[in-house]
Amino acid sequence: MPGEENRVEDALFRMPAEVELKGLSVPVTVDLELIKKEVHQDPKFQKLIAELRELEDRQNNKYSLQNDVLKYKDRLVVSKTSSLISSILHTYHNSVVGGHSRFLRTYKRISSDLYWEGTKTDIKKHCEECLVCQRNKSLALSPAGLLVPLEIPQAIWNDISMDFVEGLPKTNGFEVILVVVDRLSKYGHFLPLKHPFTAKVVAELFIREVVRLHGFPLSIVSDRDKVFLSHFWQELFRLSGTKLNKSTTYHPQTHGQTEVVNRGVETYLRCFCNEKPKEWVKWLPWTEYCITPRFNEPLRCPLFRLFPAGNRRP
Ligand SMILES: [Zn+2]
Repeated sequence: MPGEENRVEDALFRMPAEVELKGLSVPVTVDLELIKKEVHQDPKFQKLIAELRELEDRQNNKYSLQNDVLKYKDRLVVSKTSSLISSILHTYHNSVVGGHSRFLRTYKRISSDLYWEGTKTDIKKHCEECLVCQRNKSLALSPAGLLVPLEIPQAIWNDISMDFVEGLPKTNGFEVILVVVDRLSKYGHFLPLKHPFTAKVVAELFIREVVRLHGFPLSIVSDRDKVFLSHFWQELFRLSGTKLNKSTTYHPQTHGQTEVVNRGVETYLRCFCNEKPKEWVKWLPWTEYCITPRFNEPLRCPLFRLFPAGNRRP
């Protein structure tokens, strides 16, 4: 009896009622039972499911049936009329972890987990029609072509850029963000600062939050004036008890790269604390979480695993 066969299989491979999605790297779950039910009721998939059931390994070159759950290239298939699509789009785009990311990022994240017919069009429409994005992203980011090309760094956290986002509403004394970005991985740290800040204060913060994790950089690109940077380096080496490393360099020049990140930080904050601008400090960790790359795309592996602490310089 086919019914009995299914029951045995169900017992052997019991699937959780909810499934965790990888694209967002936080525990976001969707109702698997509902997705499954909708797919099985979708006339578009009924023939395909019947065909897959006939196959011994229940898969063809694109689709597979795993515990009756339809997958497309290992992504969970969702019916294009699914009642869950709007909340999926909301989670991946509008939530704090979605961060009102632009189309491509939102698309990459969703399509690493899920597939439905017209995924791309739906995501594009959702991003374009998002009112929060429209309100806060009128200042388009400059195209990559305008950026001044710099030498490509050899290893992560060797060559960084450092900038200051100013003009924020004063909150608990904080009114500046120190933006430190690794030029290779584009990973960034966004740290709140109080005015007036000296090179010594910035160097202390830098050691506490950047050197602690990544070691000393070999070069720093910054918009800041030469005098400030020179003092900053001196403080850095004084605090570390070492002599100034001659191979260490800085380029006080406009470089565009951090400007893009700076604007990303500002946009994220505008999206989430538009109503309560004074809460920006509270949103900084989320900004860092959201706008800096977390995965090395081809390997889909967290960067810190690719570059373990052994990579640090003293
Ligand atoms: Zn948006």
